[in-house]
Amino acid sequence: MNDSAHREQICLLAKSLFDRGLTHGSTGNISARTGDGGLLVSPTGTSFGRLDPARLSRFDANGTLISGDPPTKEMPLHAAFYDTRSTAGAVVHLHSCHSVALSMMPDADPDDFLPSLTPYAIMKLGRVKLLPFFLPGDPAMGTAVRGLAGKRSAVMLAHHGPVVAGKDVEAACTAIEELEETARLALILRGTNARTLSPDQVRAVVDRFDVEW
Ligand code: ZN
Repeated sequence: MNDSAHREQICLLAKSLFDRGLTHGSTGNISARTGDGGLLVSPTGTSFGRLDPARLSRFDANGTLISGDPPTKEMPLHAAFYDTRSTAGAVVHLHSCHSVALSMMPDADPDDFLPSLTPYAIMKLGRVKLLPFFLPGDPAMGTAVRGLAGKRSAVMLAHHGPVVAGKDVEAACTAIEELEETARLALILRGTNARTLSPDQVRAVVDRFDVEW
């Protein structure tokens, strides 16, 4: 994909997330690896609804900002995924309502945040790690992601929002939508005696689709 198509795709998918209420105001940030080993990143203080392709922060392969506006303050989170997962081609972070709500539930499992409800969530996300609360902009968020040693493609920051890495922008956006939708399902089903997938069913999905688990 050439540079201008890549920029357009980032802004288009961000706007699609914003338009459907998956992140609000000036929350959320997105980044993508470029062909030369650099990065395109959403600038700080911008809204997903109005990202300007020409003003995305552009880093070279050495991590130097070479054009565009200053990047999101949550760069350490993004860098932590790129540095620990060689397959990461894009990272997206949202302040999405249902996943944030689910992160506040006292019975949330830190090692397996999403209940096993649908095969697609398992296929797209693997096991989602719930990380504790951090102050906004605390670089310890990035340190916590590095502590996972590249073993998770998706994490949930408690009281804050999910962060998901994918092989490209489309894959990362698809996966984070799956995370939010599964959290929404989990809240709808809360307090009911709905059946989750059994451990054997989860294992069958993991084996069939070669999921990192
Ligand atoms: Zn955030």
